[in-house]
Amino acid sequence: MGEFDLIKRFFTRDPALTPQPATVALGIGDDCAVLSPTPGAQWLISTDMLVEGRHFLSTVAPDRLGHKALAVNLSDLAACGATPRAFTLALALPRADELFLEGFARGLFALADAHGIALVGGDTTAGPLNICITVMGEAPAGAALLRSGAQPGDDLYVSGTLGDARLALEAFRGTVQLSGEDFETARRAMEQPQPRVALGQALRGVATSAIDVSDGFAGDLGHVLKRSKLGATVQADALPRGPALLKQPLALQRLCTLAGGDDYELIFSAPASAREAVQSASAASGTPVTRVGQLDAEPGLRLIDAQGQVLPELPAGFDHFKASA
Ligand code: ADP
Ligand code: MG
Repeated sequence: MGEFDLIKRFFTRDPALTPQPATVALGIGDDCAVLSPTPGAQWLISTDMLVEGRHFLSTVAPDRLGHKALAVNLSDLAACGATPRAFTLALALPRADELFLEGFARGLFALADAHGIALVGGDTTAGPLNICITVMGEAPAGAALLRSGAQPGDDLYVSGTLGDARLALEAFRGTVQLSGEDFETARRAMEQPQPRVALGQALRGVATSAIDVSDGFAGDLGHVLKRSKLGATVQADALPRGPALLKQPLALQRLCTLAGGDDYELIFSAPASAREAVQSASAASGTPVTRVGQLDAEPGLRLIDAQGQVLPELPAGFDHFKASA
């Protein structure tokens, strides 16, 4: 199978069966895709690359990989409150493995269709497995949620639950033992994250800042603090966790929620006067949100326990957990 057969067979879809957003004037097949902006909107564009061994394990099922490659990109649009419109796909493949491509495309397009986003172009080459997606979305001019907008005194929230992806990674590494059911839950969180696109859009005009959690809660919150020139106080044990993680020792729970990564939940800030509006956004998008702390004028991230005692430092790594568990 040649390059063009491969693109046609796996990545070009029948326009009659897959309606495209009105913004897509021309998709795959020419030298460029042509997109028509919605009047009054701005484009929001983000790129994420997934490299085998670094961002995913070779054991992942191809359909879950297709899902995740797009999900991590949609999560960036979600963090900015954008409406997804189109994406491109640059693929390096060791060989044209039909079984792999069929599964990959299935997972990719299932998520694309769920969000009404069209594949409009890309590039295909032989090489070590590498997946690079660029997503394009729109938001009303000036309405995008940014990292820089948080204000002192704002409430701090996080969506969904944190830490399951890291828990799965530790299970794969053999550092924790999970029941079959807990392992499946954690593995699904790692391999099939659900980008919080509806929540991000519902938070336009409500949240003052937002970011998605890709590298871990503490690190990603740190980006907001830096860009907003603020600090934060966070109740470490108020960070939302699922049932599998709640069964683990507290030190491991803290490690996974604070420093886990790969969560693709949203951290966002909003003034206390917007608490009802935040609840409405949560309900409208069907996404649970938890208030976990507040923004302070004083720089730095302060973690406190349920008694209000300041925790000495962030969990540094798994050995640290072992020593203190
Ligand atoms: P060019 O050489 O002009 O860059 P290519 O031969 O690389 O064009 O690609 C032909 C068409 O197929 C282009 O419209 C390109 O965007 C599209 N394409 C290539 N690879 C992919 C892919 N993996 N997914 C979607 N579209 C692709
Ligand atoms: Mg090309």
